[in-house]
Amino acid sequence: MKFDSGFISQVRSSTNILEVVLGYIQLRKSGQNHIGLCPFHNEKTPSFNVNESKQIFKCFGCHVGGDTIEFIRLIENMSFVESVTLLARRQAIPLPDSGKKTGKSSKSSDFTDFFRLMERAQEHFQGCFETDSSAQSYLEKRQIEEEAIRSFGLGYAPPGNTLLGILQLEGLSESTARKCGLIRKNAQGNIYDNFRGRIMFPIRNSAGRIIAFGGRGLGSVVPKYLNSPDTPLYKKSQNLFAFDLAKNEIRKRDCAILVEGYFDCIAPHQAGFKNVVAQLGTSLTMDQVQLLRRFTRQILLNYDTDSAGIKATIRSLQLFLSSGFRVNIVSLPEKSDPDTFIQGNGAEAYRQKLLNSQPGIEFALEHFLTQHRDPFGPKGKQEITDLIAPLLLAVDNRIERSEYISRVAARLQIEPGLILQQVRRVRPHRQKEIGSPAAPRLHPLPAEIVLVQALLDSELQPEALPRLNANLIEGLVSEQLLRKIRKIWELNAELSILTLRDQLEDAKDIDLLETISLQSPPGGITLESLLESIRSLQKLHLDKKKRRIQTDLKDKEKMDPCSDRIPELLKELEKIALYRIELDQR
Ligand SMILES: [Zn+2]
Repeated sequence: MKFDSGFISQVRSSTNILEVVLGYIQLRKSGQNHIGLCPFHNEKTPSFNVNESKQIFKCFGCHVGGDTIEFIRLIENMSFVESVTLLARRQAIPLPDSGKKTGKSSKSSDFTDFFRLMERAQEHFQGCFETDSSAQSYLEKRQIEEEAIRSFGLGYAPPGNTLLGILQLEGLSESTARKCGLIRKNAQGNIYDNFRGRIMFPIRNSAGRIIAFGGRGLGSVVPKYLNSPDTPLYKKSQNLFAFDLAKNEIRKRDCAILVEGYFDCIAPHQAGFKNVVAQLGTSLTMDQVQLLRRFTRQILLNYDTDSAGIKATIRSLQLFLSSGFRVNIVSLPEKSDPDTFIQGNGAEAYRQKLLNSQPGIEFALEHFLTQHRDPFGPKGKQEITDLIAPLLLAVDNRIERSEYISRVAARLQIEPGLILQQVRRVRPHRQKEIGSPAAPRLHPLPAEIVLVQALLDSELQPEALPRLNANLIEGLVSEQLLRKIRKIWELNAELSILTLRDQLEDAKDIDLLETISLQSPPGGITLESLLESIRSLQKLHLDKKKRRIQTDLKDKEKMDPCSDRIPELLKELEKIALYRIELDQR
């Protein structure tokens, strides 16, 4: 589906970017903008700006920026069409009649089919669950209540090959089903259902649309757990189970609980802990950390208590710390996980476990101490310091880091200075800060900023536009941008930041436009400051021209001292000098 520009601008004009962004992050007023910590990169001082009157946002740290739709696209991890749809729904704007779809591109129609296929498969699995007593009694045995079955959309894939026929009845092709990982082909060329004899867990994107499935085998079905492979809709490393259900609660509580398995996630939800998400059977990835970072910087890790679980905990701890999270570890008794613990002890006992969670570094230190045969011998101390140093280094906040160093030193009974030394030694291996800005970029001149802003200001536009000539803008950082403005003006089209942004193709120019739009020159923009800026750009142009002619002149004098061009060039220099004086006197 593709929306026409009229609908897009209707959605855009009926939403307020400030309200939208405030739904995700905290902002405070600063001059004409609202500023806050960027949700798209790791930072300690705010460089994320929202300008309400211009309806744009811009981060001066990682250079993302755009309008409300772009913000939603980035923060919700959605396509453009999905973002427009989400905003339209929130504003109760009816979507254009799907019968009048225009300009259907093959890629988006593919995706439409993919989503339709997942939904149809989900209906099938839910339908099968309704009629299968073994599936029902399995969930009953695991104490999953009806409400959770409904909200998580649990289903059942029966043994045998039932899915393909159903999908084909809907006009969905075998190849679409294969691309989505629901159907497979074996070496003999036979087609079969990927999920057979399994309880089905739909995996949704943050907007709540099904993008994959996980399946728990019933009886002797192997493997016990099977997940969709990566598909065009789904990347295992970029998603978290139940993120769509948990994200609002994560934001509200400013904390997420991360668990390992499907049941470990459903059991706490059922017991009233709605800010729980689960990893999808892999080691934690930076993408998953980033997904959570949009909503919180505090995490409770509640993995299994076996040695694999502890190893994974320490690995995830480091990843979260290095992304600026506060991390606490929830310790459940040995051989229990969130699911079995809540079943056996109830919600209140689980709440106590969450309250008694331990700062990640302390947990890791205690773990290293118990694992070591002689932790307080000279060698033991050194080895444990080596193990804990990368974690200490990962702590983003310096004050917190030094606090942890003191605590570790006290526990190991050694000088804090020695630990600090060790931390410094591992520093060169430190991960690059995520989202760190790329190569230095060119900065527009103050006069350019004034000119661009005046051109986009409805009152100053009539003064600024006629003065925009090719000489003036040649060689400026914003040359392409200014050319585009000129072109829009020549075509008599509406000229504003958002209409201009839509027409820019080069990401550099879009970045520049956003950067310039959010800067407020001292004293604001007046007709005087506009004229002053134009004069200074004219001078700049003359100076450049002068240098060019001087070089030319030198060359000529060397090659052919009698050339006719020499007096001509001298005359041009004279003209430039006169014009320059005139400009100075204005
Ligand atoms: Zn940023």
